[in-house]
Amino acid sequence: MEIEIRRTETPRTPPAPGELGFGRVFSDHMFVADWTDGRGWHDARVVPYAPFELDPAAAVFHYGQAMFEGLKAFRGQDGQVRLFRVDRHARRMHDGASRLCMPPMEAEDLVAAIRAVVKADAAWVPGAPGTALYIRPTLIATEPFLGVRPSRRYALFVILSPVGAYYPEGINPVKIWVEQRYVRAARGGLGAVKAGANYASSLRAALDAQKLGYAQVLWLDASEHRWCEEMGVMNLFVRIGDRVITPPLEGTILDGVTRASVLDLLAEWGVPHSERRLSIDEVVDAHRDGSLAEVWGCGTAAVISPVGELCWQGEKLKIADGAMGPLARRLYDTITGVQYGGADTRGWMTAV
Ligand SMILES: *Cc1c(COP(=O)(O)O)cnc(C)c1O
Repeated sequence: MEIEIRRTETPRTPPAPGELGFGRVFSDHMFVADWTDGRGWHDARVVPYAPFELDPAAAVFHYGQAMFEGLKAFRGQDGQVRLFRVDRHARRMHDGASRLCMPPMEAEDLVAAIRAVVKADAAWVPGAPGTALYIRPTLIATEPFLGVRPSRRYALFVILSPVGAYYPEGINPVKIWVEQRYVRAARGGLGAVKAGANYASSLRAALDAQKLGYAQVLWLDASEHRWCEEMGVMNLFVRIGDRVITPPLEGTILDGVTRASVLDLLAEWGVPHSERRLSIDEVVDAHRDGSLAEVWGCGTAAVISPVGELCWQGEKLKIADGAMGPLARRLYDTITGVQYGGADTRGWMTAV
């Protein structure tokens, strides 16, 4: 794939590290490519960041044919910019597109696109501890047509946002509401794809939980309301005694890159672990008998998010005395160590 590079004539100054939040500020450039029926992907380009002009009838506005990725570039202590497991993110976007009847971009082309735009805006990769450049590839249906069928035109774009440290004041375990009323994903649905629609359907439960003082919800399965699935928009891990359990990928759960990295590390360290169904009753029973040792969520944004309390049917289960457990801490330190330029023995990092 050939990528045209058209640089901005009015480069801006990236924000100072102290001014970085999440996802509000965008860099000078973006990658864009178009897809049309019969032609495939074409006009791959890195251009100045700017709003799009889209027809109000564009399919994405009406029927939600949209999906995205989320990954990060880090500036190592040696100054080098590196992407964390970019191949895996590109493959996930490629593999997910068909569920939404969208044209996939070859994973190696998407990696090339990400590298090209990050290279153009390398000055936007912040260097302060905990900061990163968040990368958002997005695929949308652009054909102006109101008939219900897959669009015949698409755009794939990649935008970049310098982000601050997720834990500027140190890691505080969060309180989680175990959701009984709303569901995130059903068998046969979109749960395994990073579709915008999954996020639209999850907002109501998250907002209601936040009103009650909970940071996020723990999702249970859609048919029995019994099996633990994900924690907000993160994958879920539970340590009961010395064994770590994470729900299996059976179509309703997103195949997280952080989840895969955690599983790699647990295997490497010889920590007993299983990918298996875990009922909320088993979690509650473990809490009662004192073996519920650690609970955490994991994802690109926070890496590891420890849980200090679960609220289930009005009962508040305190976990690890509300502190971060030792395994969550070790995983966090190891993954962030590699991201910021530590020894990369697993081939997770790609220099830009
Ligand atoms: C993105 C996402 C995750 C985490 O995936 P990572 O690849 O680790 O960032 C987990 N669950 C859901 C629903 C997600 O959308």
